[in-house]
Amino acid sequence: MKPRGLRLKLTILYTAILGVVLGGLFAVAYYLLANQLDATATDELVERATALKGYLRFENNRPVLAFDPTDPEVAFFVRTASRYYQIYDFSTGEILDQSADMAFLGLQFTPNELHSLTEFPILSDIQTDQGKIRLFSDRITSDYGAAYVMQVGVSLEPSQATLQHFIGLTFWLVPFGVLMAAGAGWVMAGRFLSPVRSIINAAQRIDVSKLDRRLPVSGTGDEIDQLAVTFNESFARLERAVGEMKQFTASIAHELRTPLAALRVEAEYTLLHSESLDECKTTLASQIEEFDKLSRVIQQLLTLARAESGELRMLREPVDLTTLLRDLTETFSLVAEEKKISLELDCVEDLKVTGDRQWLERAMFNLVDNAIKYTPEGGRVNVYGRSENRKVVLRVADNGRGITSEALPHIFERFYRADPSRSKEIEGVGLGLSLVKWIVEQHGGSIKVDSQPNLGSRFSIQIPED
Ligand code: ADP
Repeated sequence: MKPRGLRLKLTILYTAILGVVLGGLFAVAYYLLANQLDATATDELVERATALKGYLRFENNRPVLAFDPTDPEVAFFVRTASRYYQIYDFSTGEILDQSADMAFLGLQFTPNELHSLTEFPILSDIQTDQGKIRLFSDRITSDYGAAYVMQVGVSLEPSQATLQHFIGLTFWLVPFGVLMAAGAGWVMAGRFLSPVRSIINAAQRIDVSKLDRRLPVSGTGDEIDQLAVTFNESFARLERAVGEMKQFTASIAHELRTPLAALRVEAEYTLLHSESLDECKTTLASQIEEFDKLSRVIQQLLTLARAESGELRMLREPVDLTTLLRDLTETFSLVAEEKKISLELDCVEDLKVTGDRQWLERAMFNLVDNAIKYTPEGGRVNVYGRSENRKVVLRVADNGRGITSEALPHIFERFYRADPSRSKEIEGVGLGLSLVKWIVEQHGGSIKVDSQPNLGSRFSIQIPED
């Protein structure tokens, strides 16, 4: 699947926005231009009318434009300004003087019309056969008291032609601009999306057997790069999780295969070679121990798997840790005594935490069990409980065989057993501490270990009190 849909969508969006912006700009430009042309025509008309009024004289009660025809500038101005020019007798409506172009237009108004034309505003636009004309009608009174109306006009044709031309241009330019934008948008979207395409291609090549592959990161730090980095981090986590699962499965197979094979060989041997019922009974009795051990491993595995899948619920209720630790040391006192290990409890009264009693007991059980298991005869195991900075601190310390610095980072991993050859004589499969860690984390706490080979180990748990 290629990101074509997105490319098309981006291009359409970009083109549509640019189309609207261009259309809007041209509309505003049209409005401004129309206003400007209109204002220029009005200014020009008022200017011409005012100037012509200055050349107006009344000879024998007839108005005439009196100017020096030998002055080329004046002559040119008066001829241009009076292109559309006429003057009426206001009372009779008779035209007293008129330019040729005005006569050609045939514009004549009745006295009533003249009356309203000279009321404010004295500008009026008239549609004629020759196009639109803007008229300036001004009432003038001669020195003898007679009233006249002078009309001066300008053609609005040039302004309208300019506007028409502008609209014509717009009709070409806007679609052309939109088309260009579409092309540019398509190319740009293609360029922006090309890293996405390479991410898609790379992601398609990653599957569970090739989780070590990563998506390309261009190093620009943009959103697409961040996306690739985020996915890469997820792939790394997945790779780790799948790796752990593979190792876990292999470890389970190994843990179960070895004792099963041994049991089988033993059974086969007994079947072929034992001569008495007693001999068979002895073998079976020793095998029951092995079966018990195997079923304990399976039980632990099941607990861990159910715990990690979230199937087991963790209660949140007040737990009296003082009593819990007291009962626990009581439980272990016989085993410790047998091994001549001094087991001591140093816990404050009323040490409480919010959590699940059974799980916390399981965690502390595993720690004390380990401490006794990995401490030789005559050793010492101390269990400690305190409240520090609104946190409960639980410690199990021993002066046993300790853990090497190479083994230390791995002891919380499933099936990990430090120094397996030495651990052979000690029962265990390497699942206890991973369960302890899970329980502590479920309580929002943390666990750490300090250990020195042959000097002892100290496991410390910290859990927030509520
Ligand atoms: P196991 O069933 O082997 O005891 P754990 O997960 O409880 O498994 O412990 C993992 C490994 O950590 C053990 O095999 C042992 O080597 C080491 N270990 C744990 N606790 C102690 C301890 N108190 N002293 C020395 N080594 C320990």
